[in-house]
Amino acid sequence: MAASDHICLSEGCGKTATLQCPTCIKLKIEGSYFCSQDCFKKNWVGEPHNPFPNYRYTGDLQAVYPLSPRREVPKEIMRPDYAETSIPISEQNVRMSSTIKVLNEEEITGMREVCKISREVLDIGAAAIRPGITTDEIDEIIHKATIERGAYPSPLNYYKFPKSVCTSVNEVICHGIPDKRPLKDGDIVNLDVTCYYKGFHGDMNATYCVGNVDAQGKKLIDTARECLEKSIAMVKPGIKYRDFGKVIEEHAKKNGFSVVRTFSGHGINQLFHCAPNVPHYNNNKAVGIVKAGHCFTIEPMICEGGWRDEIWPDNWTAVTTDGKRSAQFEHTLLVTENGCEILTK
Ligand SMILES: [Zn+2]
Ligand SMILES: [Zn+2]
Repeated sequence: MAASDHICLSEGCGKTATLQCPTCIKLKIEGSYFCSQDCFKKNWVGEPHNPFPNYRYTGDLQAVYPLSPRREVPKEIMRPDYAETSIPISEQNVRMSSTIKVLNEEEITGMREVCKISREVLDIGAAAIRPGITTDEIDEIIHKATIERGAYPSPLNYYKFPKSVCTSVNEVICHGIPDKRPLKDGDIVNLDVTCYYKGFHGDMNATYCVGNVDAQGKKLIDTARECLEKSIAMVKPGIKYRDFGKVIEEHAKKNGFSVVRTFSGHGINQLFHCAPNVPHYNNNKAVGIVKAGHCFTIEPMICEGGWRDEIWPDNWTAVTTDGKRSAQFEHTLLVTENGCEILTK
C-alpha cells in the first residue's frame, strides 16, 4: 500500500495521510498515519486515545495514552545504576551466572528495611483502588509514597520502563504500564511494587478487586494467593528451586486454571533480578538448591484460560493470548535455618 492510501487517524479529519508516527516506525507497527504535525500531536499528546489502533488486542483491555510525563525523584535519594541510563550494568555483569548469593547480617538488615517499605507503599497504592481511578493516578500515589520514604521506585527506567509501578488489569499477566484508563467496576488489578533503599531492592505484588467482581474472578485471585502460600510453606534449606512449580501447578489445575511459563520468580538483593530463576510450572529445569541466607521471590501468575502470553507494542505489557484474566501474588523471601522469613509480609 502506498503512503498516500492512508487516511489521517485524527478523529473527524479524513485527509490523506503521509506522516507516520515515529514510535510506530521504531516498533515496526504498520500504521498510525497522520496528515500533519498538528493532527499527530492532537492524537499523541491530546485526548485519551488508543496508541496502537492497528494492533489486534487479545481482549477488551486497550492502552489509553498519552502517558503522563516522567515523574521526578529528588536528587538526594540513592538510585540504582540504571536510573539514568536504563541499563542495569551490575545485573548484566552476572547475567549468565547461576551462583546464588548468601546474604550476610548487614545485607539481611538492608533487605528487611526495604521490604518493609515496599509493603507500606503497596498498601497505600491498594487503598486508592476504586472504580474511576486511572492506573496513572495510582502510579502517582505509589511514586510519592516511595520517595517520601527516601526510596527509589525500582521499575522507573529499568530497561526504559516508563513508570514507578506495574499495574496489570484483567488479561494483563504482568508489566502493565500505568496509563489513563479508569478502572471499571468488576476489573481485577495487580499492583507490583519494588522499592530501592540503601542499596537493596524489595519486591512484592498482589491482585485486588475493583468494586464488585464475579465469583470466577474472585476464585482466580484466591487460587493465585493460595499458590503463593503453598509454595512459601515449602521453603527451607535443602529443597530444590525446581520443586515449587509442581505444587503451584497442581493447585492451579485442581481449580481449573493454568500457570504462566514465560515469567518467573528471581533472586533479589542489591540487584533487582538475579539468580536463582524460580519457575512456577511443573517439570521445569531450574538450577540450584535452597540455602539459608538466600533471598528470592515467588510470584505465580495464574490464568483463567490458557497460559500463553504475548506482548503489546509498548514492548512491556504481557497479556494472555486468549484475552482471559490472570492474577498474581508475590513476596520477597529470606531463607532461614529451618524455613523462611517473608520479608514483605
Ligand atoms: Zn514484583
Ligand atoms: Zn519480582
